[in-house]
Amino acid sequence: MNAWSTNVNPARGGAPQACRRLGARTASASVSFLCLSFLLTPGASAQRTQLKPGWNMFTPQQDIEVGKRASVDAQKVLPLCNAPKVDAYLTQLGNRLGAKLPTGGVQYPFEFHCVNDKAINAFALPGGFVYINRGAIEAADNEAQLAGVMAHELSHVALRHGTNQATKAQAAEGFLGIASGIFGGSTGGALLTQLGAFAAGGVLLRYSRTAESQADVMGTQVLYDSGYDPRAMAQFFEKLEAESKGKNPPEFFSDHPNPEHRVERVDEEIDKLGGLPPNPKRDSQEFEAIKREVLALPVVKKLSRGAAGPGAAPAQPSANFATYQANSYTLNYPDNWKKYPDSNGSGISFAPEGGVVDDGSGHGALAYGLIIGVSQAKGDPNDWEALNNATQQVLRELQKSNPSMKISKQAERVRLNGQPGLATYLSNDSPVGGQETDWVISTLRPEGLVYFVCVAPQSAYQKYDKTFNAILDSVRFTK
Ligand SMILES: [Zn+2]
Repeated sequence: MNAWSTNVNPARGGAPQACRRLGARTASASVSFLCLSFLLTPGASAQRTQLKPGWNMFTPQQDIEVGKRASVDAQKVLPLCNAPKVDAYLTQLGNRLGAKLPTGGVQYPFEFHCVNDKAINAFALPGGFVYINRGAIEAADNEAQLAGVMAHELSHVALRHGTNQATKAQAAEGFLGIASGIFGGSTGGALLTQLGAFAAGGVLLRYSRTAESQADVMGTQVLYDSGYDPRAMAQFFEKLEAESKGKNPPEFFSDHPNPEHRVERVDEEIDKLGGLPPNPKRDSQEFEAIKREVLALPVVKKLSRGAAGPGAAPAQPSANFATYQANSYTLNYPDNWKKYPDSNGSGISFAPEGGVVDDGSGHGALAYGLIIGVSQAKGDPNDWEALNNATQQVLRELQKSNPSMKISKQAERVRLNGQPGLATYLSNDSPVGGQETDWVISTLRPEGLVYFVCVAPQSAYQKYDKTFNAILDSVRFTK
């Protein structure tokens, strides 16, 4: 039997074995429930979609270590509900779902926490540390929908999407070889250190649409195997989408981008599982009681975006520079700045200690520093018009995800390492409060439009101007 399959075929006498195995780590009361659910789904295992974690340099044990560290950091910045009954309920529900999660034999130390944040969102750190915003509990119509969100999050854990992305990001940076040389093959250890800051949560938590689709499919299987209405997860996402028409979409979709044909894909999986079970569980009195308790919790003001304040402003950029070598260029950056590779592997950011702050939802947002990105674009590097078109497109994309962003000074022609470039000034909301200035330099290269975004709060921008210019002057294209 495939290691990733969840069900044991009762026809071959596997069910009692499964009950014993699960019984070893669940209360005896739930053992009979687990056995019952096997009986309700005879033979369904044959056709279900088999999902496996992708390429990963971390071991599952390191997933747990990374997640544990990030979880400690998360709890320093997130306002928790501090409602023992709510956490106990989430833990009980989460463990019930976790027992049905195909983890390939890995025992994740699941933890479930309620976050006092009205935004509809939830996230799971590698290793099984799950955070559910009160907003998600309040938005769920019934227990099955909440279970759906949690099953989706748990699926990201089992499919190890966070460290899979970190693996891809590091590999793209060419970090792999160096690290395994230094650490004698234990690359994860080095990555662990690099990812230590919760700011790196961006790498661990921003999922691709493929990852989303996988989490939907596995989440649906988990719901089904736990006796819940397997349509509940997709119904919840559909409801969020419908309710947000014409408004800002819920935070959930910025972390968990909506894959195409979400509902169709889930319905397909339900068919493969043998159709809707006869009496799927939808709600419980307990859920309704917990929801009432959550609704009555005092509202915690979102982490102040100005929390950094003048006292916590990052140290001045060092006058000493370190060299960074990417695939197609090199540049120098202040040696007291840290590197933050993108989750998709094509870009990288540089920021001082304290330059990346929590954006209020547990994600890192760069307030001071430099972001380098590459977007798909073709054109002769010396063709100003092609450069302008590609640049405008990137600016439009940036504006889509930053609604307050405005062009404060139209693009001007510049040279970057002798190549035609465009320099555009933007203004935007700063994650530390007030406005920020973004200076965007773009240039066409064989790999696409390479753009450098120099970021600092407006009030501090002058102090960074010299450093930004020095960094851009040091850019050398090597291909
Ligand atoms: Zn997701």
